[in-house]
Amino acid sequence: MHDKLLTDAAARGARYLEGLDAQPVFPRPEAIERLRGALQAPLPAGPCAPQEVLKFIDEHGSPATVASAGGRYFGFVTGGALPAAVAAHQLATSWDQNAVTFNCSPAGTLFEQAALRWLCQALVLPESADGTLTTGATMASFACLAAARHEVLQQAGWDVERHGLNGAPPIQLVASEEVHGTVLKALGMLGLGRETLLRVPVDAQGRMIAAALPELHAPAIVIVQAGNVNSGSFDPAAEIIPRAHAAGAWVHVDGAFGLWARSSPKRAALAAGFEGAGSWATDAHKWLNVPYDCGIALVRREGLLRAALSASGSYLMLGEHRDGIDVSPDSSRRARGVDVWAALRQLGRAGIAALVDQNCDQAAWLAAGLHKAGVEVMNEVVLNQVVVAFGSDERAKTAIASIQKAGEIWCGGTRWHGREAMRVSISSWATTQGDMEIALRAIVAAAR
Ligand SMILES: *Cc1c(COP(=O)(O)O)cnc(C)c1O
Repeated sequence: MHDKLLTDAAARGARYLEGLDAQPVFPRPEAIERLRGALQAPLPAGPCAPQEVLKFIDEHGSPATVASAGGRYFGFVTGGALPAAVAAHQLATSWDQNAVTFNCSPAGTLFEQAALRWLCQALVLPESADGTLTTGATMASFACLAAARHEVLQQAGWDVERHGLNGAPPIQLVASEEVHGTVLKALGMLGLGRETLLRVPVDAQGRMIAAALPELHAPAIVIVQAGNVNSGSFDPAAEIIPRAHAAGAWVHVDGAFGLWARSSPKRAALAAGFEGAGSWATDAHKWLNVPYDCGIALVRREGLLRAALSASGSYLMLGEHRDGIDVSPDSSRRARGVDVWAALRQLGRAGIAALVDQNCDQAAWLAAGLHKAGVEVMNEVVLNQVVVAFGSDERAKTAIASIQKAGEIWCGGTRWHGREAMRVSISSWATTQGDMEIALRAIVAAAR
């Protein structure tokens, strides 16, 4: 039964991917409505053959999917999924491992540890860093900031895990005006508040202005960004981090996609200085092109993730080995390390750099083509992000809607520098030069 069913699932998956080019990048309204209708039925009284379950999902679900696994989806910052990572994900699903503890899954634990070590090597960060794989960069920042909160309050003589925040010394929190909303969410979940941050002004590219950094007083946490979601720009880490450290502050890096610039010798200078931070949050499901969901938390000093996030239970048989439950905000979780290891192994050092360079070159090519056609590009294109303006706010909204409706490519809108604009984020191994030519034509046509 397993053989036939899983072969069928793999075949359907392969057919889906092979057919992606012919599918509109965003599903047609009819496909969404058909799925919505099909899902109205109440919970059936009895069982159904697994083959039939799969058939329903494929026939109703596949046409209603967003073709973000293909080469012409440029919304948000959405990575594709590398073939080895997709295949590894499928195999690991058959394993159904729980990476909660070593005893629950030696394989899950060992792949995670190996993947974390390779990630430090790929991102040129200290290999001694401690880490964990999370659902995404949001929870990676949560884990890192929990470690930061522990450490800065410990330094101030306060045990936050034991006593909580009531009565704790206040932590000075500093980030830029363009801090990502999910970092605020993580701070909120940590009881540090979403609106207690000092917001440092930014320049035209969204980079924190180092000269505007306030005077810092420990306990303090400074959050810097590698890769602005609109422009792709980087905060000046090499200036900010030493100043923060001199004042006894912790520095956390939100590098959901931008941190990957460090893996390319050609782009590493953009993200120079970030290696000095105390913690780094990034994603595997964005630029490393690992299937969802997969984020990465790295903390320079060993023991701090454990101090902030460990859990115990007399039946868990903890201790002898590294246990995920001790360093992760989650307890039970899937073996994400397998997918990450597979992606890193498929690419190798050169392949990771080539993926980053390919997407950056494609962004630069697109920006040059738009410029030549008289379409305004609002940002300095330093990475994989292109912000496109269309004259007026009204025209921008119309252009974005027409591009989305035509279905050849998909780009989302944004508001940047007080103007409506369109974001093009190129983050997939699957994007070809042919895809870029289609994108350029579609954007220029919409602009006219
Ligand atoms: C995507 C993103 C996040 C959030 O990442 P998730 O993986 O969606 O949790 C945080 N910061 C930046 C800069 C991002 O681009």
